[in-house]
Amino acid sequence: MSDISVSAESSSRSPLSEEVARRRTFAIISHPDAGKTTLTEKLLLFGGAINLAGQVKAKGERRNTRSDWMKIERERGISVVTSVMTFEFNDLVFNLLDTPGHEDFSEDTYRTLTAVDSAVMVIDAAKGIEARTRKLFEVCRLRDIPIITFINKMDRESRDTFELLDEIEKTLALDTTPMTWPVGRGRGFLGTYDVVNGGVRLLEGGGAKTGATEQIDIADLGKRNPNLDVAEVKDELALASEACKPFELAAFREGHLTPVYFGSALRNFGVGDLLEGLGKFAPAPRAQDSDLRKVEAAEPRMSAFVFKIQANMDPNHRDRIAFARLCSGKLSRGMKAKLVRTGKNMSLSSPQFFFAQDRSVADEAFAGDVVGIPNHGTLRIGDTLTEGEELTFVGVPSFAPEIVRRVRLTDAMKAKKLKEALQQMSEEGVVQVFRPRDGAPALVGVVGPLQLDVLKARLDAEYSLPVEFEVSEFSLARWISSDDRKKLDAFIAANNSGIADDVDGDPVFMAKNEFYLGYISERAEGITFSNVKDVK
Ligand code: GDP
Repeated sequence: MSDISVSAESSSRSPLSEEVARRRTFAIISHPDAGKTTLTEKLLLFGGAINLAGQVKAKGERRNTRSDWMKIERERGISVVTSVMTFEFNDLVFNLLDTPGHEDFSEDTYRTLTAVDSAVMVIDAAKGIEARTRKLFEVCRLRDIPIITFINKMDRESRDTFELLDEIEKTLALDTTPMTWPVGRGRGFLGTYDVVNGGVRLLEGGGAKTGATEQIDIADLGKRNPNLDVAEVKDELALASEACKPFELAAFREGHLTPVYFGSALRNFGVGDLLEGLGKFAPAPRAQDSDLRKVEAAEPRMSAFVFKIQANMDPNHRDRIAFARLCSGKLSRGMKAKLVRTGKNMSLSSPQFFFAQDRSVADEAFAGDVVGIPNHGTLRIGDTLTEGEELTFVGVPSFAPEIVRRVRLTDAMKAKKLKEALQQMSEEGVVQVFRPRDGAPALVGVVGPLQLDVLKARLDAEYSLPVEFEVSEFSLARWISSDDRKKLDAFIAANNSGIADDVDGDPVFMAKNEFYLGYISERAEGITFSNVKDVK
């Protein structure tokens, strides 16, 4: 086993860099049902953020009753809300950014992944890598986000350990280093062997609430379970340590290697090991790319970007919360920040922290933290806040929609109101809106149909705008650009009936189908057609 200490990171520092070094900002990626919610609850238990397991979902359900559009969540048993949960453990501050489980809201998830420094990949031990895990993993890889793996549901029938590790290596092209190793499987699952320090942690006998586990020497296993073939277990462990690559911090940080933990979120087993691993190996807030320069987390001046807008979190307040990830420095309550897009200053009078049960006003927050900034539509996704510097963080992406629909208003008198409402919805990232240049009614683009349901419900509830969606002549949208302004103008003039403006006024080419898109793009010399746009 190689040296896995990270002491290099804790040499003498300023108070700000000490605070930054304490932060771990991460998300959990998984296929639905693998156990993300259960694991989240258990992680929060460790941090003392909640006292009772089950509260994450319970809270979600309570929240769902609060507003009309959230009824959709309740009816379909899905979580639309992306939120952040902050907890402390072992003198570290963990910011866990939750992501919606349903793939119709994957844009939300992608944007959330721009705001984390690492991710925990939860895999169901009986199922291995599933479709959505794989997709989300690819997004992490694009952004060089290091991954820690938690193989869950070890208390149930599971696949062979070697086979699971092999599948991760092959399908994700990612080296694995098991940090723990399961002893027994399915009904015979006894616990895990600590590959780094030796000793076996037993599933039984621990405190399910506290996550405390009893640890015994491997030689004593047989006494605990006479049915267990200890020699076989020893052989497997020997084989495992021979076959597995030693843990290398650099390879992990670069995204080439994942440490793997085995456990059962339901039984609160292995969660403590995972959290310790996260504290020890996952990176503190990383430098962030902006259009001007790389911004280091420990720079004294505050900077942040907005990756998520949440409306109506509390209908008593009818507020909109912009979730901002601090990229550098310290945010103090009451400070003024420059909204770079408009050049205007805004006062951060009540930035908020979110805990599992509560939110509270944040007096100060540091790089890596996520704060909620209440506002009435001033902030939009991709916005940068600074202490004056004219820089913009790059990389909060928009993706070309999978589904395009025309919005039909049942009351034509309300066209102006609809325009405003759609602008707001697109700034919040609920849907994308495309305005045809020929004056035809607006088009909306979504990744999945549930987004249309949310849009419809919210337009109705918040703006009293009943709308229907119609199939349009267009099914695809591509952002168009060119190094040569004249070429772009000429293309737009020649294809006017297929050009629309997005939320920022950037031109988008709308096409009937792939064939037509291919036909046009092959002939449009010097024009780039893109299905991703980085929100600036
Ligand atoms: P999510 O969709 O990924 O958030 O998954 P949930 O946390 O809601 O879990 C899905 C189901 O699997 C629930 O019925 C959980 O109780 C169950 N589950 C989660 N973790 C475990 C585990 O470690 N062992 C067992 N046996 N069931 C689990």
